[in-house]
Amino acid sequence: MTNTSRAVHQVRRPHGMPVPEDFAFVEEPVPDPSPGTALVENVHLSVDPYMRECMDGDWDLHSPLEGRSIGRVVASRTPELAVGDLVFHRDGWRTHTVLTSADVRVLPQLPGVGAATFLGLLGGTGLSAYVALTRVARIQPGETVFISAAAGGVGSAAGQLARLLGAGRVIGSTGSAAKAAHLTRKLGFDAAFDYHDGPVGELLAHAAPEGIDVYVDNVGGSQLEAAIGAMREFGRIAWCGAISQYNATEPPVAPRNLYDLIEKSIRLEGFLVRNHVSRQRELEEFLVPHLRSGRIVENLSVTVGFDHVVEAFLGMLRGENSGKSTVLLEP
Ligand code: NAP
Repeated sequence: MTNTSRAVHQVRRPHGMPVPEDFAFVEEPVPDPSPGTALVENVHLSVDPYMRECMDGDWDLHSPLEGRSIGRVVASRTPELAVGDLVFHRDGWRTHTVLTSADVRVLPQLPGVGAATFLGLLGGTGLSAYVALTRVARIQPGETVFISAAAGGVGSAAGQLARLLGAGRVIGSTGSAAKAAHLTRKLGFDAAFDYHDGPVGELLAHAAPEGIDVYVDNVGGSQLEAAIGAMREFGRIAWCGAISQYNATEPPVAPRNLYDLIEKSIRLEGFLVRNHVSRQRELEEFLVPHLRSGRIVENLSVTVGFDHVVEAFLGMLRGENSGKSTVLLEP
């Protein structure tokens, strides 16, 4: 085992889109676990849009960063964590960390389910999609669902889950023709469009001529405006994210039609997945049989090598991922 631990620190605040120079790689000796702790070597790291917001102030400069991760226990001084255990924890952006049993969830070994799925469909990503549909939008069988950033982690989970939950028609927007084709050919979407191809309102009206009932919003801005415009009476919007705004240097212009919520009795509700972690077991009970049968497929976008973690993060913000963006530290 190596004696050197590596970590990424943020070294300055970005203005607009972050750049590689906002980060630095730092090396230090691999720490020794003290009594009651275990040394964990990370295997899978998650890079997520919310981290862009953390860069504006939540993350201290020149300090360890946080992020969802899966690691393997490589040395232990606690009976609760055994060498070889795969654990979920939040000490991301680094190769090694020392944790107590209270800091981790020891992952169950589920035949047919890879560990990285606990960052994807069975992690906060899948849980966000599940909560958006079942608790916030309260989807009903036969309804038409529109999802933005549909080829991403939450979006591709939401599209497949909507189908399993009985949606009548599932429509996705994404950033390229290739991703749109992936949605309809591989992930079971009925229609998908590239939002660069014209005014989103027109593209959505073409894909959903009879309107939509549910919108899972990952993007905000003009896509939210288009969804409000296309929504039928008593529609529901589960507002999950606003990635079109995270790098913006000016206040948003859209949506300009919020008052249509009144006219059409639409409910718009934001949510944070961290307030719904009690649904994790329910998600696993629902999804694992579908994962094993192949009715839902994990859609991961894997970057290999810790050296590339910053590139993976920036690439995800630019839309280079198709599926949940993760970094694999060991091939
Ligand atoms: P993701 O969708 O896998 O990756 C981000 C995607 O956003 C990119 O692939 C890109 O895809 C799209 N994008 C980037 N800039 C855009 C822009 N200006 N306009 C439209 N699309 C843009 O990431 P994720 O982890 O699944 O997160 C998706 C959304 O859910 C984010 O807004 C995130 O903050 C939110 N989220 C919220 C919660 C919660 O608790 N509420 C939890 C998890 C995630 P394209 O190629 O399609 O543009």
